[in-house]
Amino acid sequence: MGAEEEVGPETLGRSTWTFLHTLAAAYPLRPSKEEQHRVQRFMKDFAQIYPCAPCAESFQEIIKQDPPDGRSGPAFAQWMCRVHNEVNKEIGKDLFDCSKVGEKWGVCEQCTAHRDKLDD
Ligand code: FAD
Repeated sequence: MGAEEEVGPETLGRSTWTFLHTLAAAYPLRPSKEEQHRVQRFMKDFAQIYPCAPCAESFQEIIKQDPPDGRSGPAFAQWMCRVHNEVNKEIGKDLFDCSKVGEKWGVCEQCTAHRDKLDD
């Protein structure tokens, strides 16, 4: 997308879900207590500052009902799928089959390779 193109709730939403599902796919299988707290804090802060006010407001409500589950990588990926489906429900979109979340979303291999290069 060019810098002159306007960002709307749809493009913002699509990009953000890509980020959030990729984040969940990269989350450790067995996270430490600190990693679990960090991801819970992050999702709660994220819901406060998401730059689409009505979306942020309804997402705060959604995660109040179903708080972030960062107990394991698969638990976090399933939680992300569930809360995305809650948004889908609210805006009349089809629900996604959460058993397929691992097929749709994976870790960003190029990002990992880039990170390794930066670490050299
Ligand atoms: P998106 O919903 O953006 O999804 C992108 C892709 O993810 C889909 O093409 C599909 O392949 C996959 N996918 C769909 N559902 C799931 C799932 N459950 N789990 C895993 N993968 C899935 N818009 C509003 O109009 N009102 C709102 O209140 C609102 N709240 C939002 C709250 C948040 C936190 C975010 C990130 C976005 C919100 N949006 C809201 C935007 C909305 O969710 C969509 O991103 C936008 O409408 C574009 O939809 P899309 O059809 O391109 O697919």
